[in-house]
Amino acid sequence: MKAYLSLGNNLGNREEMLDKAVSLVGEKAGRVLKRSSFYYSEPWGFRSKNSFVNIVILIDTHLSPTELLHATQEIEFTLGRRKKSNNGVYEDRLIDIDILTYEDMQIQTEELTLPHPLMLERDFVMIPLKEIQEK
Ligand code: ADP
Ligand code: MG
Repeated sequence: MKAYLSLGNNLGNREEMLDKAVSLVGEKAGRVLKRSSFYYSEPWGFRSKNSFVNIVILIDTHLSPTELLHATQEIEFTLGRRKKSNNGVYEDRLIDIDILTYEDMQIQTEELTLPHPLMLERDFVMIPLKEIQEK
């Protein structure tokens, strides 16, 4: 099954963290078929002096959408992320991995909404996504 993931962070060695996250996704979630270049942007939805780096990847996975979510959450935890954003308040983070789409499935559960509801509004998702869709 094909899924697009968005990965981003704004703390520490950002590019190295994304490289680590992509290789963990490859080990734990599914083969990485495509990867965008780094996309740099200012914080979205909150103020911070730390700018973000984002990438989008396409993977081929045998996991179900929920299993994929849990796998990516485990990777976030492994890479040192210890807290969730609360009540839609965004903050600095070491790593964030979001599932953008999973095949053409539409899902709405307490823990997972697909396609990702904010993806269309976010340049840091749409620009790298377009880049790999054209590859
Ligand atoms: P955000 O990604 O909005 O900055 P978090 O990474 O803390 O914030 O995620 C908050 C919650 O969003 C997660 O606990 C997860 O259950 C939920 N969620 C809903 N849909 C998705 C999705 N498509 N991809 C990733 N997480 C999702
Ligand atoms: Mg997230």
